Amino acid sequence: MSSDCLFCKIIAGEIPSQQVYSDEQVIVFKDIDPKADVHLLLVPREHIISLNQLEEKHDSLIAHCMHLLPKIAKEQGLDNGFRTVINTGAGGGQIVFHLHIHLLGGDGLSGAGFSRAV
Ligand code: 5GP
Ligand code: ZN
Repeated sequence: MSSDCLFCKIIAGEIPSQQVYSDEQVIVFKDIDPKADVHLLLVPREHIISLNQLEEKHDSLIAHCMHLLPKIAKEQGLDNGFRTVINTGAGGGQIVFHLHIHLLGGDGLSGAGFSRAV
């Protein structure tokens, strides 16, 4: 836990969030400023800053995240597909420096997915 990290505070329950899934490794909650009908954030409980800080010890965690994404998308009714986005570093548009995967779907998505908005 990083004491000045927004997502660590959400994980600790110090800041409320609308959770849709939780297990021992990750939580998933609704983005506060949704860019599509469904806009969730899948967040590892461990405070990893970004993809740049991933190590081999995180391999099983990352595999877990990848397997969860389609399951959660299905639970959200996204039968026609979904989009995932990982912003890395300031130059990649990252604002919250705790690794997270955006899961987007439904109305509001179109085109190739390189919008500036997410
Ligand atoms: P980033 O640009 O770092 O990839 O995305 C951070 C995301 O966190 C943004 O989409 C933003 O709307 C979302 N966000 C920022 N603050 C909060 C918050 O307090 N609660 C929730 N649920 N989402 C947040
Ligand atoms: Zn954190």
